[in-house]
Parts: sequence; structure tokens; C-alpha cells
Amino acid sequence: MEKETKCIQAGYTPQNGEPRMIPIIQSTTFKYDTSEDMGKLFDLEASGYFYTRLQNPTNDHVAAKICALEGGSAAMLTSSGQAASFFSVFNICGAGDHVVSSSAIYGGTYNLFHVTMRRMGIDFTFVDPDCTDEELEAAFRPNTKAVFGETIANPALTVLDIERFANAAHAHGVPLIIDNTFATPINCRPIEWGADIVTHSTTKYMDGHDAAVGGCIVDSGKFDWFAHADKFPGLTTPDESYHGITYAEKFGLGGAYITKATAQLMRDLGSIQAPMNAYLLNLGLESLHVRMPRHCENALEVAKFLEQHEKIAWVNYPGLPGNRYYERAKKYMPDGTCGVVSFGVKGGRAAAEKFMKGLRVAMIATHVADAHTCVLHPASATHRQMNDEELKAAGVSPDLVRLSVGIENVRDIIDDLDNALSAV
Ligand SMILES: *Cc1c(COP(=O)(O)O)cnc(C)c1O
Repeated sequence: MEKETKCIQAGYTPQNGEPRMIPIIQSTTFKYDTSEDMGKLFDLEASGYFYTRLQNPTNDHVAAKICALEGGSAAMLTSSGQAASFFSVFNICGAGDHVVSSSAIYGGTYNLFHVTMRRMGIDFTFVDPDCTDEELEAAFRPNTKAVFGETIANPALTVLDIERFANAAHAHGVPLIIDNTFATPINCRPIEWGADIVTHSTTKYMDGHDAAVGGCIVDSGKFDWFAHADKFPGLTTPDESYHGITYAEKFGLGGAYITKATAQLMRDLGSIQAPMNAYLLNLGLESLHVRMPRHCENALEVAKFLEQHEKIAWVNYPGLPGNRYYERAKKYMPDGTCGVVSFGVKGGRAAAEKFMKGLRVAMIATHVADAHTCVLHPASATHRQMNDEELKAAGVSPDLVRLSVGIENVRDIIDDLDNALSAV
């Protein structure tokens, strides 16, 4: 199936007389005829549902759709994008381990890594995504277990050279984890470029309507855990909390990583997505292939308008010819990048705040990447924990305005920007 058909049909095939739409299985619990039947589920001897904290059929259908879109082998939904980022790393890292991460990542992910996961004993080295090969090489340590980056960084809009980061990760025997939230599998499929695990905040374009917070993790099934068995004992040695199962043996390369994340992390941490939210997410996915091109089209027009405006200091949009990442974006995302544009208003922080007060169509919101056009000043909101140096490393200048271009009529969006700029 092509991606457009997958958006509509993948993940769920109703049988004779069954609901056409992925049904909401709003049940915490599932019934079995015998204790033996249920026991097999607890031993991971049979697959099936017993408690929604671990797995729910609605969620699994939606995860299977995203899995098909990304070209993965297995996938799971999580309660949020943050939970997806956390699980994706924590599934293969523990205290004493180390991760190499791009410094241009979502502010929430940076806090998760730099503050919370450090407190758990996992160390991170942040590298400029455009660092030299030598600098990237120098970031690895003997205890490095993963490399992490974003296809298009939120909000820096840096485009990651996925192939280069994949090669570096693989040369050190560790997987590359890519947060593909901004590009979505409509515009980029990181697995095709060497990524091993893909994460999403489904809260953004995938849901697309400000309706439901959620996340997803997709495994490519391509990383050979046994080839680096000493680094990944959680996958290659028996799990005593599951009767001595060795995940990579029992579930193969295609199933080991997601099964472990479900059986251990969901069981113990319980960050499951509500089935109702998964249902809403699926509604969003059914139009993702129609919305993404419109987001990109509108964003490009907005970027062109801003670029020629006398009150605008600079514009950053990877789809704009002349952008620093234009060529790289063309390679990884030939059909378009995302709907998010960032820019600076001449006059810095004060001018930016005045400009934002004049907007009517574009609403001030911390959210990005959905049907509604919205706008944010990250230095005073999502990234306010960072000092100026950290902001710079994350690619966020104090005057940066992040505009998430929606799918309204682009004339209305541009007129709104024009009006607000005239007041500055
Ligand atoms: C929003 C976002 C997250 C976090 O997702 P939540 O669903 O808000 O928890 C992670 N990565 C990126 C790129 C994001 O934009």
C-alpha cells in the first residue's frame, strides 16, 4: 500500500460484520475462560489482552497503522510524546549508561535527558547536529548505548543528517533513535535512512486537531541486539521478572524491543495512551496525508512573505530556497518538511512581544503542528529553563518567534501577520 492508503486502512481490517471504524475498547480488563489461559499471557507464552495498563486493542490497531507508515516491525502507543522519548531510551539504558544526543531537540526532551534521566544515573553528551565527524566521534564512550536526534528539531528547525548519525551510531554498535514528530512519516521515513527506532509526539500533526496528547514508538526490527549482546543485557539475557524470557531470542529482532518496553516499562510505569485518545489519534491519521502537504504549502508562502518584509530580521524555514538546510531537507524530505516557520522581528524581544499582541488569526499557544495557526516565543515559554548559552546550543535565539502555520486559507494568515507587523 502507498502511504495515503495506509493512513486510511493500515492497522485494522474488519472481519465480516465487524465495525468499519477502529472501535474504542473502553475496558480496563479482559475475560478468560480458565486460569491456564490467563497464565499463558502472564508468561508471555500467548499474546492477548488482560489489562489496559499494558495493552489495549484500540491502541494496538492505531500503533500498527503508524508502524506501517514508518515501515517498522512493531510499535506501541504511549500516553504522551515525553513518555515515548523516555521509554525509547530507558528501554535500553540504565544507571551507568550514556547516550549521545543532538543538542537541537525539543525543550521537554532536553529537560528529560539533562535533568530527570541524569538523576536516574544515565549520562548524556549533547552534540551540535552540524558538528564535525571528529566531534561526533569524540562524544562516544565505552558505555554509550544509543544516539538520539530529531528529523527537524522543534523549535530550531535544524534538519538532522540522519544517515551520518546512523553510521556513527552503528560504528559504535548502538541504535539511532529519531524523534520524527515534525516531519511525520508522510514527509520522512527515518528507518529508510538507517534509523533503528522512531518516536513521535502524536499530539502534533498526527492527531492534528488539538484533541489528544499521545506518543508512539516504532522499532525498525533491524538492529541486531545479539551482535552487541554485552551492551544490551536487557534484551539478550533472561528477564527474571518474566520467568527467564530472553526477549531477543523469544520475539526475534522484529519484536524484542517493543515487547520488552510493553512487558516491563508499561507494566511498571503505566504510561498507556487512553483508548479514547487512540481513537481520536486515528481520526487524525486518516487525513494526515492530506493535511501535511497543505501545511507545507502554506508555510512556504508565509516564509516567502516574511522573507521580503522590511520589519523581519531573519526567517528560518528548511523548505525555503537559500535556507541553510534546504539541500539536506530536499534529500530527506523531497515532498516538504513541516508547517513550522521561525523568524526574528527587527527590534528583538520587545518588538516580538508587541507583534504577537497584534495577531488575531494566529493564536498564542505552547502547541505547534496542528490545523490551527499558532505562535509562540520559546525563550519566554517552552525554553525558559535554559540560560543563553543553552538556548544557543539548542538553536533558539532570544528574539525567535515560532509560527506553526495551520491549514486555514493562507491569505488570512498572511494578512494577519501583515497587520500585526504594521503595529511594530
Ligand atoms: C511536543 C513534542 C514532544 C513531547 O510530546 P508531548 O506529546 O507533548 O509529550 C517531543 N518531541 C517533539 C519534537 C515535540 O514537538
